Amino acid sequence: MNSIPIVPQTVNEPVLSYAPGSPERALLKEALARMSGEEIEIPLIIGGREVRTGNMEAQTMPHNHGHVLARYHKAGPNEVRQAIDAAMEAWKEWSRWPWEDRLAVFQRAADLLATRWRPILNAATMLGQGKNAYQAEIDSACEFIDFLRWNTNFAQQIYREQPFSGPGMWNRLDHRPLEGFVYAVTPFNFTAIAGNLPSAPAMLGNVAVWKPAQTAVYSGYYIMKLLEEAGLPPGVINFIPGDPIPMTDVILNDRNLAGIHFTGSTAVFQTIWRTVGEKIGSYRSYPRLVGETGGKDFIVAHASADPLALSTAIVRGGFEYQGQKCSAASRLYIPESLWPTVREQTLGMLDKVRVGDPADFRNFMGAVIDRKAYDKITGYIKHAHEADDVEVIAGGTYDDSTGYFIQPTLVQVQNSAYQLMCEEVFGPVVSLYVYPDAQWEDTLRIVDKSTPYALTGAVFATDRAALLQADRELRNAAGNYYVNDKPTGAVVGQQPFGGARASGTNDKAGSILNMLRWISPRTIKETFAPAHSFEYPFMGEK
Ligand code: NAD
Repeated sequence: MNSIPIVPQTVNEPVLSYAPGSPERALLKEALARMSGEEIEIPLIIGGREVRTGNMEAQTMPHNHGHVLARYHKAGPNEVRQAIDAAMEAWKEWSRWPWEDRLAVFQRAADLLATRWRPILNAATMLGQGKNAYQAEIDSACEFIDFLRWNTNFAQQIYREQPFSGPGMWNRLDHRPLEGFVYAVTPFNFTAIAGNLPSAPAMLGNVAVWKPAQTAVYSGYYIMKLLEEAGLPPGVINFIPGDPIPMTDVILNDRNLAGIHFTGSTAVFQTIWRTVGEKIGSYRSYPRLVGETGGKDFIVAHASADPLALSTAIVRGGFEYQGQKCSAASRLYIPESLWPTVREQTLGMLDKVRVGDPADFRNFMGAVIDRKAYDKITGYIKHAHEADDVEVIAGGTYDDSTGYFIQPTLVQVQNSAYQLMCEEVFGPVVSLYVYPDAQWEDTLRIVDKSTPYALTGAVFATDRAALLQADRELRNAAGNYYVNDKPTGAVVGQQPFGGARASGTNDKAGSILNMLRWISPRTIKETFAPAHSFEYPFMGEK
């Protein structure tokens, strides 16, 4: 075909309201009822084939841990090798497909997700990962659709990037996929990230071996079925749930490992990086390492801040999805003069927060993801109850009899270096330090230095000079920095996401910067009338 195609222009997928009486609410309720009434079996998907190992694990609901949603087959070393082989086989064709045909697969996936698949993936995320309807909508529907559509646009932008050609020649860049496979390792907390990590490289002609989080295999399987329906050829993405350590060991020992696209905790990413470093001589190329990891995200308020906006940001930013967002506000710095008002407003809002089954749409919060998370988070709460200079001013209670429920917990500390002000908790626990108004600048330095992370952060102030001071002092404290807004809810194409320091490689998921990591450009120079003599004019005389 003789054409220079233009990828359909994109706008962000509108967030549906799910208000009583809306058609989307009826469809979602119907999907929730149907899907929670069945128990499915999830195979591995390798080279487009369903593979059953018989080594199985159950996926249960966080808010009802006795309820099994699915039993999934786990990959062992043999299946991991098969997945690598299938990916490398698919690479031969896929890496040579016309780019517009590749991108069309993902555009189609976005449209399927915006329509028929929307209630399915939202319901899977609510049932399996414990999100409420709105949190599922902004994640598994809108953010994933946005990743799919925006990234196809970024891919086209990359292909358009071509060098200058001097007289007598034509210079070109061939934006090749990497020579090998990409290992996508995804977290439990965002269905959109789980879909994006294997599919962003795949759009650019790469192939992937995808290991979903053990607690998000259920929605992961539906992502895989969606991509298959959209026309993704067998082997381009291979879905292999299982135990991460032995599986990763096989992957990191494979010569064809060309990249790792990781989102999860800092410690795990550092272990992976260390191992790749030790084995660096054994790979065909230098593997691209892209990792978005932990956070200890802050809200710092100046005395000029709007207290109601601040209190709202604390409740939404700290407790939506039970604080299990890498971007969740988890440490607050509030001036003495504002604290009485903010305390009253925040506690008033928290009083109205309902915690329970997400299928009951009145609930703002659900349960935390699993037993391990529950034990870790409640451990911090127990410590806070016992510590001398720490006061639990809201919540602080929990109950795991049916699901892993923890009430939204607000903890006031006297020591800004207390563990809850420095360590990632990843749950509905927000700690706060009240500082004397006159120590605004010192407080900014404390915010900057308290943790190794630098993912998200927010400043609240109406005084412009104070905003300027915060901007300077906190320049390296957050990769996503918010002014008078909560530090969560980044939108693809609008606030590219990622942080530096211990929070990751800051390659900004949902932007062209991330996509650039998955190509290996080849420069081609074609000369129209090549030289016929080796001698240069300057050689004509002595
Ligand atoms: P996790 O690190 O426990 O797991 C992430 C993935 O790594 C999972 O697929 C898991 O199976 C795998 N994994 C675990 N141990 C491994 C090992 N030893 N070797 C190889 N793979 C291993 O994280 P999680 O609990 O799923 O997610 C929460 C974490 O993710 C938090 O730290 C959060 O801040 C972070 N996160 C960061 C971002 C971001 O964009 N920066 C986004 C979402 C989540």
